[in-house]
Parts: sequence; structure tokens; C-alpha cells
Amino acid sequence: MIATSRPQAFEPDLTLSPTPQTVWFVFQGPRLLVREDGTLPQGEVPWALEDVTPLGRQEDVPFFTAGLSGDAPEGWAALPVRACFGRLPDDRMGLAGYAAQVLDFIRTHRYCGRCASALTDAAHERSRRCPNCGLAVYPRVAPVAMVLIHRGQGAATELLLARSPHFPPGMYSAIAGFVEPSETLETAARREVLEEVGVQVGELRYAFSQPWPFPHSLMLGFDAEYVSGAITPQAGEIEDARWFPVTALPTLPAPVSIARALIDRAVQAALPL
Ligand SMILES: [Zn+2]
Repeated sequence: MIATSRPQAFEPDLTLSPTPQTVWFVFQGPRLLVREDGTLPQGEVPWALEDVTPLGRQEDVPFFTAGLSGDAPEGWAALPVRACFGRLPDDRMGLAGYAAQVLDFIRTHRYCGRCASALTDAAHERSRRCPNCGLAVYPRVAPVAMVLIHRGQGAATELLLARSPHFPPGMYSAIAGFVEPSETLETAARREVLEEVGVQVGELRYAFSQPWPFPHSLMLGFDAEYVSGAITPQAGEIEDARWFPVTALPTLPAPVSIARALIDRAVQAALPL
């Protein structure tokens, strides 16, 4: 689950200059340049780059991100960041997500939304400033409340899982949705549960969180006990939702996801070895 978070040893630094040790996260559009063996570009990069931006350092290795002008060079694949799970080492994967979000922020915040002047990078923090009107903009992080609903005890435990029409065939997951302005996490979690599957849940128990840089979510995982209501899938959003015994679960999200971590934890609690 930590594979999408910045390593603890990483220190953001906006003042770096590229050196022969620099490791680069170079993006062609949204795709990351990486070699077959998981190597990233290092040192002097011979390609035409744009939006060159320092990220920070980890154990004296400076990291930069940039956009590539033109085609992917020979020997390099341009892959969606989420296709790099398992190809990049975990700590590089976490930084790749960070790099993707920083570069996307720069690419989508070139001009002031209030007065249309060109924005510039702030010197002391990751933000963009308008030299004309003073507007400050920050990288967007969109919180998503995720709820795994349980009922029953021990080996008889069941989990309420749902599938959205865009999931791979047969895959079910926990309930999740974006937090809206003015909502608490708890309000958002209950609203999503009610909207998506029509049931009431008891106390929400916070489990853990996970940055999900596709493109800029922060997943916040909760467990909750079922209280009442018949499952009513939300038209257009939820293709199917049902109770699954922990002993007969369907296809689940990838192990790297917080949904899977919540489900695996519930199964381990229900079926101790
Ligand atoms: Zn402005």
C-alpha cells in the first residue's frame, strides 16, 4: 500500500540544480519514460525537455521531473504511471506518483484563473503565484472516502462489495466517493454508502490512507458495520452490489490498492490462522 506514497527519507527541495547523479521522471504527455528493466533516466539527459522542475532528494540523490518535447527515444518505453507497479522499485514508484502530480500541476496552472497573467513558481513552497494579483495556487489533492461494510462474525462474516460499470469483468470493491466541499469525511462516507448501495452503517472506524496519484486522490479507508436497509445499487454508478462471504470473495482490486488492503485485513480478522 505504501507503494504510492513518497518515501519517508525523501526531502522536498525546490532549490536543486541538476547534477550527474540526478534521477529524472520524464513524462511524454502523462506517460513516464522507463526502460524495460525499471531504470529511470539519470545524469545528463540528451533530450529536449520542458517544465524542468526540482522535486527533492533522497540519500543525496536529486530527483527532477520534466516533460519531453517530441517522441520517446529509442530504448525507452513511455508507460502510464499505474502500469509501472512492479516495474519500478517501491520507493521510485512513490516518487513517480509525486512527480506526475507536480508536473500535472505545473502543466495545468500556467495562467492565473483570476486575471489570466502568467503564473510563476513560488521559491519557498510547492505553489504557483500570480505576480499581478497575488493569487496563490497549490497542487490539488482530492480526498476520497472509502468504506468497507461488514456484517456477521468470524467465519460467517460477509462484506458488502460493489462494482462500477468501468471495473474489469467480475471485479468488486469497497464503496468509495469524493468528499464534497463542506463535508466531513464521515458525512461523505455515509452519503456515498447511502447513495451507492442504499444501506445504513454504524460507527465508522478509520483504518489508513493512501495517496492515489491517478490523477490526484487521497484515499481514506474506513470500516463500518452494517445496520439496516436492503442493497439498492445506484442507477448508472453501480452495476451490481451484494454480500460476499469472506470464504467466497470475487475478483478483488490489485494488492497495491487501499481497497484490497481493507478487504485483506477484514478477511484476516474473520479467519485467523
Ligand atoms: Zn492574477
